Order: sequence, then C-alpha cells, then structure tokens
Amino acid sequence: MTQEYRITLLPGDGIGPEIMAVAVDVLKTVADQHSLSFTFQEALIGGAAVDAVGQPLPEETLDKCRKSDAVLLAAIGGYKWDTLPRELRPETGLLGLRAGLELFANLRPAQIVPQLIDASSLKPEIVSGVDLMVVRELTGGIYFGKPRGIFTTETGEQRGVNTMAYSNSEIDRIGRVAFEIARKRTRKLCSVDKANVLEVSQLWRDRITALSAEYPDVELTHLYVDNAAMQLVRAPKQFDTIVTSNLFGDILSDIAAMLTGSIGMLPSASMGASGPGLFEPVHGSAPDIAGQDKANPLAQVLSAAMMLRYGLNQPQAANRIEQAVQQVLEAGYRTTDIQSPGTTVLGCQAMGAALIKSLHS
Ligand code: NAD
Repeated sequence: MTQEYRITLLPGDGIGPEIMAVAVDVLKTVADQHSLSFTFQEALIGGAAVDAVGQPLPEETLDKCRKSDAVLLAAIGGYKWDTLPRELRPETGLLGLRAGLELFANLRPAQIVPQLIDASSLKPEIVSGVDLMVVRELTGGIYFGKPRGIFTTETGEQRGVNTMAYSNSEIDRIGRVAFEIARKRTRKLCSVDKANVLEVSQLWRDRITALSAEYPDVELTHLYVDNAAMQLVRAPKQFDTIVTSNLFGDILSDIAAMLTGSIGMLPSASMGASGPGLFEPVHGSAPDIAGQDKANPLAQVLSAAMMLRYGLNQPQAANRIEQAVQQVLEAGYRTTDIQSPGTTVLGCQAMGAALIKSLHS
C-alpha cells in the first residue's frame, strides 16, 4: 500500500531554492521506488517572505507547516535584510517557526564520509569511522531562563544575569527522544552535564538515570561537559548518541560537526513531542554563491533523508538516499566547496542529476 505524506517545503533565501530543487527531485525518485507518495506544498519564510508579504514568518506558512507531516527547510537570510529591525529579520522568522512548532529537540549527526576524510582538521585515524548524533535540548536552559538581563546594583555597578533552569518534565521529554534515537542507532547513550558544580545538572543526571529504567536495552553513561569536549576531539569514535542541555549542546554540536570538516554536508533535524519535525541543513543561505549553480546540495539531500528516518519513520528510503550520496562521492563527483585534486567538480544541478542517476542504478 502506498504511504502518503504531506510535506511543506520552505526554500527560503540565497542558495535555498537551488538546493531544495535537488532534494525534491531526490524525494520524488525514492518515493516511486519505496511506495511512498508525497504532496509537496511550498511556503514563504525569511527574506523571501519579507519581500512578498512584509513579514519573515507569515501566519499562512506556520499554518501550512502545522498541518503537514514534516517540514523541509533550506536556509534563510542575506545581506539585503541585515539592516531591518529585529522583528523583520529572516532569523526571527526561523526562531518563530521553531517556537510555533514547539520543537524542543535538535538532532545533529556527525558522520565521517570516507571520501572527505582529508577535510577534517583531525588526523584520519582519529576521525575515520566517526558516526555520532548530538541531541540538544532547544527550548529551555540558560537561553530562556529567568531572571535575565543587565541590572544595576545598589553600588551602581552593572551586573549581567542569566538563569539555567530545567524542570523534570523538560528533562524527561528530551531524555525520551534521545533514548529512542539511541535505540535506532547502536544503543549507546552518553548524557553530558556539569553535575559536579551545577544543581540544575544534578537534577538532569538524576532524571536521565531514572529514565534509563524504561530503556534497559540502551547503555547509558554520563560525562561532565569539559571532559566531553576533550573526548570529542581526542577519541570521537567512543560516542554514538549524546544528549545534553541547550548551552552545552550548542557548543558540542559545533565541535562534532567540525570533526567532519565540511559545512555543505551537514544535515539537522528539530523535533517536538508530536506534530511535524523540521529538517534543514546546518549551513546558511550562502549569499556569496547564490544563483551561480555552485551550491553543494548534499546537506539538503541528507536533511531529506533525516526527514524520512526520524520524521516519517521510513528508514529504508532514508538509507537509499544516503547510499546515493556515498556513491556520487565514490565516483569522484564534488561541488566546489569539497573539491580536491583528482575529483570532478559539478554544479548544484549536475550534482542533483548524478544523485538521480545513482538512485536509478
Ligand atoms: P553560510 O553557512 O551561509 O556560509 C558560510 C560559508 O560557507 C560561505 O562561504 C558559503 O558560500 C559556504 N557555504 C555554506 N553552505 C554552502 C553550500 N551548501 N555549498 C557551498 N558552500 C556553502 O553562513 P554565513 O555566511 O555566516 O551566513 C549567510 C546568511 O545565512 C546570513 O544571513 C545568516 O544569518 C544566514 N544563516 C542562516 C541559517 C539557517 O537558515 N539555518 C544558518 C546560518 C546562517
């Protein structure tokens, strides 16, 4: 029986429309091969939405997203909108979308592609075989805790304040997402905190430990965040799934991403408790190369694969896309950003055509 899904596409700005076109062709091809049927609907976000309707996240866009099974976003932003007031900036639209869909879990995989191993700043023997996932809490912790602000004390001194706070329910819901993800991978979960110094981290550790009783098949370990940062660059292969708070996850997911060395290859996902997830590349809208057919579409295509695996529970179709990406790289095809001597440089569209050919092979 054909499984039907409604997908909202948000091409956004800069290279967004170019890389989105490639991802849609890839999705259409795997749909035919895996008895899936996608209904795609496009919506405006970011600078494109500001230009068309005067705001970066039109209500109609949020509405379409909420009513879909998954949302695939390319990227937003560009020089043209950088001087607008904050409420009209493209980035405000993206934050509004994440909040509007109540996406509290951010998933950032870091996987070493053997053909691109030289792009990493670490030695090949350290990074070869790295395949990990950072699950970051996205809507709580110090980025949102109150009180916050810059206050003037009685002595007239200024004092900046932020508050790191997590409640049981916030920890439990991100914990459950992480245990479930670990289950779909190699069943190893490392929770990262600073429980030796912070009470909020002690609660985090207690709750994650308690949750592990529900997941006896997943091996749980704990690390302090300073040690985790060291271990990620010392011996990254020891990790499979990492779960951590908003602030620690912000930093650790960037470290993990750079193990792979190439921004045009990195997908991500943001998930809520129910409702559609948001799938997008880690990179921005690359306005410096927009409209020149130079963009690397692979992070967008791998985001579509994440959508299939984590958003729509279609792991076989996801695997097929990831294999096609491996195959085009094995065949020596590269976009400019990941080129090396002896490889064949393709434009964005030609890379898309190579992927489709590989999917048909
Ligand atoms: P960027 O990721 O857009 O670009 C950084 C560098 O990487 C540029 O040289 C760019 O050409 C290159 N690059 C990025 N993606 C590429 C790809 N797929 N193929 C080939 N090269 C690629 O970051 P930036 O320059 O700091 O920001 C540009 C705009 O993007 C800004 O307006 C920023 O706010 C926005 N931005 C959006 C998101 C998002 O939509 N989630 C994320 C980051 C930045």
